[in-house]
Amino acid sequence: MKILLTGGAGYIGSHVAAALMSSGHEIVCFDNLSNSDATVMDRLEAITDTAIPLVKGDIRDGDALRQVLNEYAVEAVIHFAGLKAVGESVAEPIKYYDNNVRGTLTLLEAMRDCGVKTLVFSSSATVYGEPQYLPLDENHPTSATNPYGRTKLMIEQMLADVAAADPEWRVAILRYFNPVGAHDSGLIGENPNGIPNNLMPFISRVAAGRLDELSVFGSDYDTPDGTGVRDYIHVVDLADGHVAALDAITRTDQALSTWNLGTGQGYSVLDMVEAFVRVNGVRIPYRIAPRRDGDVASCFASPERAERELGWKASRDLDAMCLSSWNFERLLAMRNAD
Ligand code: NAD
Ligand code: UDP
Repeated sequence: MKILLTGGAGYIGSHVAAALMSSGHEIVCFDNLSNSDATVMDRLEAITDTAIPLVKGDIRDGDALRQVLNEYAVEAVIHFAGLKAVGESVAEPIKYYDNNVRGTLTLLEAMRDCGVKTLVFSSSATVYGEPQYLPLDENHPTSATNPYGRTKLMIEQMLADVAAADPEWRVAILRYFNPVGAHDSGLIGENPNGIPNNLMPFISRVAAGRLDELSVFGSDYDTPDGTGVRDYIHVVDLADGHVAALDAITRTDQALSTWNLGTGQGYSVLDMVEAFVRVNGVRIPYRIAPRRDGDVASCFASPERAERELGWKASRDLDAMCLSSWNFERLLAMRNAD
């Protein structure tokens, strides 16, 4: 298929681009580069042996979207473009509703206008709010505790309405748990601007000496070691899940499908630190800090529906996640030194 990846130059989008290429799809990336840079396309070319077109544009620009959809005869869209920092969304909610909600609405209009009705959307486990039971399955009630989460919920609701109104749509909502790790080549990975909010990039930068120590947010949760438990999923497994989901929605007669993409296995913050140190032979100084506002004690998926309906299952373990993150961080340091 010919597939448009909004936000295709970003962390998850670039890994999905690599996975789609190796499954024989043709792709075009559309990104305003607000949280990525165009050099990722060169590294993707080194991985896939193909030059992937990048159109620099904003998803709030309907004309630009219509142009790329028509010019490349796009058949399906995978929609990653969005802002994703929870703290920033609390401080600047208008920016988040504008970028994420208005951006998605503009994308849906452009898709409708061009007759492209196949869409995979990057949602998040954040839409489950405070877990009422674990593991979280797709029927767990949804709620949101911050503007970022509300944008994901609003978009999910928009997509459900669109799919209900026009049964020709084929929409997949993918609820990601905690994507970490990097491509085996070490050429693409997660490289956030500024100080990372997420655990794994923070750990990598402490290991690299770019940050002094990790703050472990809370050690008095009701979990085996008191630190927060999450379902970390290797980004290459996550990428394969997109290929499987796209394939599934082109065969189903259902207009809307929702799948968790997680492993079903929870690890604590200290489990992550221990694994990173053991696998990579590095030091990660850390101190226990107060809980972070809005964090839940434990969050992990039931990946059963995705296994059953997509024939997809995450296969890479925690060691592979830690190894590939560190490999990416070291190669990044070497590239930056050049
Ligand atoms: P990322 O920031 O690396 O990638 C997002 C890309 O979208 C960036 O390249 C950015 O430049 C682009 N972008 C942002 N706004 C845009 C706009 N208005 N127009 C065009 N391009 C725009 O983030 P990521 O980690 O790859 O996340 C991808 C998606 O997955 C996001 O929607 C995010 O909310 C969702 N998600 C991510 C995680 C995670 O932990 N990384 C977890 C759950 C869900
Ligand atoms: N965490 C931490 N220190 C950090 C960043 C995160 O202790 O510098 C913890 C956080 O409290 C949570 C887990 O690591 O228990 C995963 O956090 P992350 O921000 O990566 O993901 P999310 O909050 O979205 O699950």
